[in-house]
Amino acid sequence: MKQLEGTCYISFMENMKRSVTCGDLRLKDRGKEVVLNGWVHRLRDHGGIKFINLRDRYGITQVVVDADSPDELKKVAEELKFEYCIAVKGEVRPRPKSMVNRKMDTGEIEVKAAEISILSRCEVLPFMIDERTEAREELRLKYRYLDLRSFSMQRKIKLRHEVAFAAREYLIGKGFYEIETPTLIKSTPEGARDFLVPARLFPGKFYALPQSPQLFKQILMVSGFDRYFQIAHCFRDEDARGDRQPEHTQIDMEMSFVSKDDVFEVVEGLLHYIFKKTLGIELEIPFKRLGYHEAMDRYGSDKPDLRFGMELQPFNDFAIGSDFNTFKKIAASGGAVKALVARGSSAFSRKDIGELEEAAKVYGAKGLAWMKVTGEGLEGGIAKFYKEQEREIIETLGAKEGDLILLVADNWQTACTSLGAVRNELAKRLGLVGETGGESGEESKGESERERVFKFCWVTDFPLFEWNEEEERWEAAHHMFTMPQEKDIPNLEKDPGSVKGELYDLVCNGVELASGSIRIHDPELQKRIFKIVGFSEEEAKRRFDFLVEAFKYGPPPHGGIAPGLDRLVMLMAGENTIREVIAFPKNTQGVSLMDGTPSEVDPKQLEELHIKIIKDEEEKEG
Ligand code: ASP
Repeated sequence: MKQLEGTCYISFMENMKRSVTCGDLRLKDRGKEVVLNGWVHRLRDHGGIKFINLRDRYGITQVVVDADSPDELKKVAEELKFEYCIAVKGEVRPRPKSMVNRKMDTGEIEVKAAEISILSRCEVLPFMIDERTEAREELRLKYRYLDLRSFSMQRKIKLRHEVAFAAREYLIGKGFYEIETPTLIKSTPEGARDFLVPARLFPGKFYALPQSPQLFKQILMVSGFDRYFQIAHCFRDEDARGDRQPEHTQIDMEMSFVSKDDVFEVVEGLLHYIFKKTLGIELEIPFKRLGYHEAMDRYGSDKPDLRFGMELQPFNDFAIGSDFNTFKKIAASGGAVKALVARGSSAFSRKDIGELEEAAKVYGAKGLAWMKVTGEGLEGGIAKFYKEQEREIIETLGAKEGDLILLVADNWQTACTSLGAVRNELAKRLGLVGETGGESGEESKGESERERVFKFCWVTDFPLFEWNEEEERWEAAHHMFTMPQEKDIPNLEKDPGSVKGELYDLVCNGVELASGSIRIHDPELQKRIFKIVGFSEEEAKRRFDFLVEAFKYGPPPHGGIAPGLDRLVMLMAGENTIREVIAFPKNTQGVSLMDGTPSEVDPKQLEELHIKIIKDEEEKEG
């Protein structure tokens, strides 16, 4: 028997290259001589018999070194440790009845080792593969290559691959061309800050990394490629917050001669195909549609979670008819008093309600009022002000004994968004939204996906502009290339706040999955929008002249959308963060812990780029 060293590549190829994977073998293969390559997943010793669980991305096969094996083989087996990369030659045999593992695909057989070669060794692990969810995320990100060995990560990366593949298959089948657009582009801010790349050959000039292929895909429409898509990498230099990554991936699309209904139809078909093909789930299409105003009014969010009810309800009439002055004043002066019925929550403690109030305050509410519904009527909190109306309130709100009524009064926007935040928080506490995330071993793969609920909806009719308090100017709610709704075009300059856009979001389970719009294709209208968002003619020309120029040459009416691939796969995988479905993500501070990005560079490189680093005062003094 030859003991191969890791470097003997040729001998390995000749003798010990795998003939099957660790997920292949079944009872019908008994008696076959096979070679397996993989990693030592688990090791057990039972009275001189060694069991090695050998793992590769396809599965796990049990390898046995019998007690009567030749000494040389036993010696190699003795050396093995977790995650050694090895090759095993041996014969497939049925497992003894008592050792059959029905949960494993290969659970009826084992391979009796005749020869084992250590291909490479592994140092002491920072965490055990497949138990690494217990490790701190930082550690998992630092040793991402080990983290990715786990079945749980392998499954998510596989799902991502399958989703991207299905997207390509569907869109190409519908006549879309996949066209790459450049990564080094002109700085054309699209809402966020651009990442800049100094141009060595042009001192003082910069490339920018695209926030999305937006302008290029529109120009492709001018060029007549009337159905474009790209699985595009997008870069946004934003402050680290929540689940943001400085780079993300979208399924970017654009179409000519379309209305928004056409865009919806393509996206609905696309998602239906992806879900069916990858998870075996039949999505109900077409998706529900909600206007922005309705979404805010009923769910307190422009990305409503429709997996549960608990809608916000108007309370203005009751507020006006009672002596509770705080509410009365707000209702009488054009504000909104909104109520929400929390089912079976009348036993909530002050502390519970206080925590819900904190959620409301994040969105600007000054407080969260409450009343409990008992057999007698309303009690506690502000109930004493509503004694006369209590029966009518209970009936109108559809409340029942044991419920808790929660209320916010403020301007419409604040009242809706803060009570909307309470609604989401409540859903978590009341278990109305299924558990997401979590780890499942190789044995239980694929079960949980089928039980998950995916509630999609379109949100339409958004305002075209938002008021930027800090800069005291209007800015585009989505981006500057969105078509205003035709009826509102005359009011563009007069009353920008009232103008609605031909823009739409796709939402699933409270997560914004995609944004898109019908675009402006009239250069004059585009110039008016630039002006309203405060771009002087010169600035607009400097930044976007190529688009305005292109639009002089017969641009077709067009529109598009860009579902986020990371978020889509995150939802499909039942995860709570996109880091779980990106092979090499940055942490929440935008740092890649594995390779230490961002990092300093050679002074020589800076010199070539004509860049001097000026550290801020504090650092200099320190
Ligand atoms: N470029 C937009 C975005 O990245 C998507 C679109 O309007 O198609 O959000």
